[in-house]
Formats: sequence, structure tokens, C-alpha cells
Amino acid sequence: MIGIEQQLEKTKLLYRKFFLEFSKELDARILKLKPEGLNGEISDSYAPDSLGSKWQEQVRNLLQDEIAPEIYKNIYKLKNSKTDLCKMCGSCCKLAISEFSQEELIKKACEGDNFAKQFISVFVQYKIEDIPRNIFPEYIDYLALNGISDVYFYHCPLVTEDNRCSDYENRPQICRDFPDNPFSLLPPSCGYCKWKESILSDSLKYQAMSEIVQFYKNLL
Ligand code: SF4
Ligand code: SF4
Repeated sequence: MIGIEQQLEKTKLLYRKFFLEFSKELDARILKLKPEGLNGEISDSYAPDSLGSKWQEQVRNLLQDEIAPEIYKNIYKLKNSKTDLCKMCGSCCKLAISEFSQEELIKKACEGDNFAKQFISVFVQYKIEDIPRNIFPEYIDYLALNGISDVYFYHCPLVTEDNRCSDYENRPQICRDFPDNPFSLLPPSCGYCKWKESILSDSLKYQAMSEIVQFYKNLL
């Protein structure tokens, strides 16, 4: 298995590559739809029924009816390729890592962030002295070596001593979906490591595409 630093670098480079490739491709498709003689950018404000607003409408349709469904179909396919590989090591319930503190997550949840809502419904932030460093020592060492201190560690009180979920039927969707985030690092004990590695490239590609599409949707 490659080290944390190499994993992060590989993920970053792949994501950047897909991001740039799709940005270029989408820009070209948007430009192809631009009416002849129109001056202005896709993000400009145009009068209703003008050439510019018709162009924006066409781009909206392209994103909504063609590109987004294709991306979501592929993301769905990737998620569905996951079989039950959980070895019940309990690591993901005993040591969840976030770039946000509990206060920040509560704020995000109050603002409607669905992931934050689910996360704080089960996870509790560790006190520094209680962080179990033996669960994912490679990651803890990586953070320390690189002077990274703005990450927060959590645990779920619902996990039992034998690594079972004591409220399995009612566990939130984020637990059911784990590990579906291509950027998350998995401890070596996780049974999903190989599966995640096998879909990493495609996951990053569709993640990059969906972020670009969302950017344009917000722009128009
Ligand atoms: S709710 Fe269950 S599956 Fe989810 S983190 Fe807690 S113990 Fe683990
Ligand atoms: S870290 Fe992976 S193998 Fe361990 S309990 Fe979580 S999903 Fe299962």
C-alpha cells in the first residue's frame, strides 16, 4: 500500500487533471452554442429574449438535460459497484476525521448542510488527550510531520466494544454510504481499501465534472 503523502498527491494530481480537462471541454461546448455576432460572456446579464439570454438557456439545457444526468448515472454506477467488504474493524466509527470542529459543523447543520446534520447526529468530537492514535497511526504521523493541526477527530458513541453499530437500522445515510468520498483516506484495516483504489480515478473524474457543472448552474 502506498503512503499517505503519495496517496494524497496522487488524488490531488488526478483531480486537477480531470478538472482541467473537463473545464476545457465544457468551455468549448458552451462556445459552440454562442450565437454569431454576440459580444459578451456566458456569465453576463442579458435582457430577456435577447441572443445572450437564449444562449444561457441553451447552456442551462445542456447542463441539466445532457451532462448532469450522464454524470449522476456514472456516479450511481460507481456507488453500486460497492459490495459489502466491511471487516467490522470499527475504525470509521471510532475515528472520523473532519476539517471542521463540532461548533462549525453545528453551524453548517443549522444552515441546512445535510452531511453536517447527519454527522453531528452521531459523532462527538474527541478531547485531544482521548484521540486513539493507534487506529490510523500513519495519518496521525503524517499530520504531525507536516504541522497540520486544523483537523478534528470524532467518535460515535453508538459503536459497541465488538465494533457493531448498536443502532444499525437507524444509522444515518453517511454511515450506509461510507466510504463514498474519493478524497477520504481509509485506514489500512478497512476492507474497502482495494475497492476504493479501483474506482478512484473514475470517482475523481465525476466529482470534478459535477463540481464544474454546479459552478455553471450557479452562474447562470
Ligand atoms: S451510527 Fe453506527 S455505523 Fe454510524 S458511526 Fe455510529 S456506530 Fe458507526
Ligand atoms: S473502516 Fe472499513 S472495514 Fe472498518 S468498520 Fe469501517 S467500513 Fe468496515
